[in-house]
Amino acid sequence: QLQQETEQNCRRELQQMHGQLAGLRARMASLRQGCGDLRGLVSTFTQSCQCSLSEARGQVSWALGALSAGRGGTQLPEEQRGPPTGCPGRLLELKGNIRVLCRLRPGTPSSLVSSEPGPSGTVTTCYRGRQRRFRLDWVFSPEASQEEVFRELEPAVLSCLRGYSVCIFTYGQTGTGKTYSMEGPPEDPGIAPRALQSLFQEMGTGGQHRVTLSMVEIYNEAVRDLLAPGPPERLAVRQGPAGQGGIQVAGLTYWDVPNLETLHQVRLPSGNAPPPPPTSQQPS
Ligand code: ADP
Ligand code: MG
Repeated sequence: QLQQETEQNCRRELQQMHGQLAGLRARMASLRQGCGDLRGLVSTFTQSCQCSLSEARGQVSWALGALSAGRGGTQLPEEQRGPPTGCPGRLLELKGNIRVLCRLRPGTPSSLVSSEPGPSGTVTTCYRGRQRRFRLDWVFSPEASQEEVFRELEPAVLSCLRGYSVCIFTYGQTGTGKTYSMEGPPEDPGIAPRALQSLFQEMGTGGQHRVTLSMVEIYNEAVRDLLAPGPPERLAVRQGPAGQGGIQVAGLTYWDVPNLETLHQVRLPSGNAPPPPPTSQQPS
């Protein structure tokens, strides 16, 4: 009898435990689900924070630019205040130091929902079910010509003749049109050839300027000298000595380019085969 009672008790307890275990399993599943939801929320929140932050940064930079333009560019000496054409320096100040322009490639990528081209244009995308709207300093429609794109950048290019440091770079995944925009096909050149043409035209024939050209590729965080004789070497980026410009690439090859014709004569390298260069090596 004692044995039977013990067996019954054990069975009852076992059943109770089974019940509790099933409850715990259900609870765990719902907790897992909650955790996933929370992760999603945190990621959306982070992204929207970053968006707002970069928008705020843009506005602050624009406001600072407008403010300094209002003060009238006091850092430059009087004779340098007059810009070569138009008003590039002032324009830059007004438009902010860092501008982000977006060019939509022809064709309809699946992630593009809509776009409003023009100044302060927007691009709305939908990726993995999440819709996001980006506002940029300028949005170019897929029909925008190379000339239209360059027209917007030309003041920045020419501002280097007034002592500004300028950098224009394209960013995007493979196939988004970086090479097309920067280099372009020979019959419809992109930013780089147009920039050189515009610079040389602006400088005229006067011997006041010295133009040197260097070409680097940054790929997988490695900097390679594309004008170096022999296979491109991996070079180091260093902080330059005070008063000699900020960042320097040690050992980089520089070509002297006295005029546009010289540049057209030398075939720029594609891949690893450098042309015979009118080379000059700068000490840095
Ligand atoms: P990336 O350098 O970013 O990898 P590419 O510049 O090589 O991309 O562009 C990929 C392809 O799309 C090329 O065939 C290029 O000619 C074409 N393409 C890119 N942008 C344009 C454009 N705005 N108009 C016409 N064709 C373009
Ligand atoms: Mg490319």
